[in-house]
Amino acid sequence: MGKRILLLGAPGAGKGTQSKRLAETYGVEHVTTGDALRANKDMETEYGTPRSFMEKGELVPDAVVNEIVEAALADADGYVLDGYPRNLSQAEYLTEITDLDAVIYLKVAESELVERLTGRRVCDDCGTNFHVKFNQPEEEGVCDDCGGELVQRDDDTEETVRERLSVFEENTEPVIEHYRDEGVLVEVDGEQTPDEVFEDIRSVVDDA
Ligand code: ADP
Ligand code: ADP
Ligand code: ZN
Repeated sequence: MGKRILLLGAPGAGKGTQSKRLAETYGVEHVTTGDALRANKDMETEYGTPRSFMEKGELVPDAVVNEIVEAALADADGYVLDGYPRNLSQAEYLTEITDLDAVIYLKVAESELVERLTGRRVCDDCGTNFHVKFNQPEEEGVCDDCGGELVQRDDDTEETVRERLSVFEENTEPVIEHYRDEGVLVEVDGEQTPDEVFEDIRSVVDDA
């Protein structure tokens, strides 16, 4: 059985960047609710479309997200879960559907998060993350991995970023405290270079 890794952190903490490397290194699935929702932004649900929540930086209703995660985990032999759970009710749901080998919290200060998110650029084709200052592509606007076009996400504007950070504080910080109280949370300094962060995460996963 592959490792089952939960990567927690605020928007912009580096979850996507590190998850991609983890998935490659350990041969596990990268399960990310953000990408799944972006691929289904205009899907009609009884609560409205995912887009209507994401544009405002709000959480998409639990029922929609829980279903996505349950289906993705059922198909995976090991995974790195990124962007879920984002509130306590999702965390309870997760406990019912799977066990975890490692729970890692990428810690980054808020001022740094704002700069990372507003400067983030993502590949329109493969989803790889870049940054206008911290992680520049070889050629401006072009993905190093696949040659796709680099774009700014609709919700990476300063105003929506502030809203997402306040949603994180209110809804997701209690999730981090929940895993801390259970004694399973391992904190990693997310303000190091991506390589250093990865090394720290890897030693946690290898011990798990
Ligand atoms: P998340 O998935 O947690 O929202 P990302 O992995 O998309 O975060 O990273 C947010 C932005 O910060 C991206 O532009 C990425 O290139 C950049 N970034 C990721 N890790 C680091 C790091 N360790 N130092 C500086 N910038 C980083
Ligand atoms: P980031 O980690 O950079 O904030 P994501 O790509 O994980 O961004 O999420 C983008 C948006 O998708 C969130 O602001 C939210 O609207 C929605 N979303 C993603 N995951 C969840 C989740 N687990 N529960 C509810 N909404 C979610
Ligand atoms: Zn690409």
